[in-house]
Amino acid sequence: MAIIDGKALATKTKKALKQRVERLKSKGITPGLAAILVGENQASQIYIRGKEQDAKSLGFYSVIDRVSAAISQKDLLRKVEKYNKDEKIHGLLVQFPLPKHIDEKIITFAIDPKKDVDGFHPVNMGRLFMGNPLMIPCTPFGIMRMFEEYNIEVAGKEAVVIGRSNIVGKPMATLLTMANATVTLTHSKTKNLPEITKCADILVVAIGRAYFVSKEFVKKGATLIDVGMNRLENGKVLGDVNFKEVAKITSFITPTPGGVGPMTRAMLMEQTLLAAERKIGESF
Ligand code: NAP
Repeated sequence: MAIIDGKALATKTKKALKQRVERLKSKGITPGLAAILVGENQASQIYIRGKEQDAKSLGFYSVIDRVSAAISQKDLLRKVEKYNKDEKIHGLLVQFPLPKHIDEKIITFAIDPKKDVDGFHPVNMGRLFMGNPLMIPCTPFGIMRMFEEYNIEVAGKEAVVIGRSNIVGKPMATLLTMANATVTLTHSKTKNLPEITKCADILVVAIGRAYFVSKEFVKKGATLIDVGMNRLENGKVLGDVNFKEVAKITSFITPTPGGVGPMTRAMLMEQTLLAAERKIGESF
């Protein structure tokens, strides 16, 4: 069994990005990332601080726009429009969840697809689905990078994804399909889930329930990617997988924390840099 060290891989990824940032800066362009944080959600504040740290350590121009939870949808849309037009900003994200009076879909649709570093805009989703991606949702993007870096073969393998969200499960299944895996996408209405997951050479779990996946779900020698982040009251973060029990029978497994999370952050930085490079035709 080998542990996929997402933290180390993220550090390596960011080191390589830093060189590209320097090159871009020498041509007069500083990658710019704007993040809008609405309200005081504790987890969101932690995520935003992490993104700010990463952006600064890479030498990006970074704007964190903290606004009150009482902001109207109209005013939030105005802010999105402002950053859409801002030449210094190449990547723009609005941290979810948003307060109930704001429609997350409307905000997602308002972001310029070229700046949509989260990859959630329908244009980016559609392009991904057609096999011609521009911005890719960062979590599945980071997981595909893990497979590359650890030489985990995907083509021809049986892959099962648990969870069908727009930000993780669906794009994950699409990326695995593009990489020539045979993919089964499962969810809460799936019958006989362990029977299906037991066939998986690659199992990606993105549900949001601690200890959900036990050894009964896992084929011997499988690669197991645990996306879940379940924050306990004591502040501890657990994945969806019973790591202790399952790790022994896998070939590769991600830990939580230190697995998928750091790579998600690194890919956000990579997509911001890519957006800036596109500005001068250095990427497409
Ligand atoms: P989500 O939108 O709540 O989707 C959860 C999915 O899990 C749904 O498709 C749901 O099925 C499925 N599900 C729920 N209970 C199930 C069950 N008993 N059996 C099978 N499937 C079940 O969640 P998400 O945004 O994809 O996030 C999933 C987890 O990943 C969360 O813990 C989140 O915090 C974490 N996450 C981590 C990162 C990272 O960077 N590490 C990034 C994103 C998300 P239905 O569609 O049928 O309801």
